[in-house]
Amino acid sequence: ASRFRLPHLTDIFPDATSIPSTFCLRMRTPVTGDFADGYPSDEKWHGYINNRDRVLLKTIHYSSPTSAGAVCIDPDCTWVEQWVHRAGPREEIYFKPEEVKAAIVTCGGLCPGLNDVIRQIVITLEIYGVTKIVGIPFGYRGFTDKELTEMPLSRKVVQNVHLSGGSLLGVSRGAPGISEIVDSMEERDINMLFVLGGNGTHAGANAIHDECSRRKLKVAVVGVPKTIDNDILLMDKTFGFDTAVEEAQRAINSAYIEAHSAFHGIGVVKLMGRSSGFIAMHASLASGQIDICLIPEVPFHLHGPHGVLGHLKYLIETKGSAVICVAEGAGQNLVEQTNAKDASGNVVLGDIGVRIQQEIKKYFKEIGVPADVKYIDPTYMIRACRANATDGILCTVLGQNAVHGAFAGFSGITVGICNTHYVYFPIPEVISYPRAVDPNSRMWHRCLTSTGQPDFI
Ligand code: ATP
Ligand code: MG
Repeated sequence: ASRFRLPHLTDIFPDATSIPSTFCLRMRTPVTGDFADGYPSDEKWHGYINNRDRVLLKTIHYSSPTSAGAVCIDPDCTWVEQWVHRAGPREEIYFKPEEVKAAIVTCGGLCPGLNDVIRQIVITLEIYGVTKIVGIPFGYRGFTDKELTEMPLSRKVVQNVHLSGGSLLGVSRGAPGISEIVDSMEERDINMLFVLGGNGTHAGANAIHDECSRRKLKVAVVGVPKTIDNDILLMDKTFGFDTAVEEAQRAINSAYIEAHSAFHGIGVVKLMGRSSGFIAMHASLASGQIDICLIPEVPFHLHGPHGVLGHLKYLIETKGSAVICVAEGAGQNLVEQTNAKDASGNVVLGDIGVRIQQEIKKYFKEIGVPADVKYIDPTYMIRACRANATDGILCTVLGQNAVHGAFAGFSGITVGICNTHYVYFPIPEVISYPRAVDPNSRMWHRCLTSTGQPDFI
């Protein structure tokens, strides 16, 4: 049995009619440039995914018959298998392409690959035969801000957008109320909404889906998780993460060269990672130039016999230089809490990078050892990069699958990669809390072995 039941439009419209997708698929023939009707399905999508096709997430054994929420294969059984649904084109679709008006919106911060996903969604919609495709400018606020007008999208418009980073549509934080967004969607006749964003954006997407169900609107809301931090539950990785790690390595390399070339040089690099240290951990592992990696999941002291500063002194004495990599959400107990929130209600973090830099300078001055400290924060340079090849491919698959999911009639879902397979998840399953580095995991221990750092507690 599947634990993750995907919400489907037939939940709201039990008698919703499906159409064989071959009936609707149109393909531009290379010779004439005309549309040809009714191409055989397999020529189009190379076979369909059955709604019952699933990917095994994990098998869990309990000491007694299973706990609530888990669906067991037989009632006396003490183990469950968690499955997720395979993503891809379905043989039956729930929208006539000529009746579709699709909208795309990007919210939150920038992440490499946003343009790649937008591009692929537009291209795939056109292949289904959709002609009404629009971009909502500057995140959710584009739905209600009268000064902002929707942007018509077509293959021609998006053809080269992946060649640069950022988002063609613009992003924003903060939002109008859900019911105003749905009012605006009704006014605009939008019946497919593709939402690219992080946890906050997905919470919004799910609320939009719920509101559409409540109003009995036949609308498919499909998310594409955008988190450079790679902190979405159950997913192998999210788009932009690979690019971020690669770019972070460049910053680390610069910090290393600076530190190495100075007398008693110390480099501090602050990387993204509000609640999860994946970028810091992976960039440290990849670069091999980090002596101390600090992440939100692992507490540390700066001062005292087992503090970071004491270890830095040891590194300066023995190696002559050192490089620290710190995730933005690390050591929040060591920085002043402002209680400030951004427009979306996220807590504004204290700047741990600046704090560490100041503490290092102060410490070495106090002990009378010269130290040349250099601080690099490459955050915005990394976020604005264009996606690398691996992320480009991931974005392509996710963008295509988002469109297949919407046409299949699913709503309130998001796309991802899970155990190397591309799948759909119900949104609430993946946003209940951020995925974090497990301090007992092999990967974190590999990182510690690689940096050679002790425990700082
Ligand atoms: P990032 O990873 O860049 O933080 P995010 O999607 O989490 O991405 P946010 O700024 O937190 O970015 O949220 C994006 C949008 O989603 C904002 O417009 C915000 O108002 C809206 N939003 C956030 N949380 C919720 C929620 N619980 N319900 C409805 N909308 C939300
Ligand atoms: Mg967020």
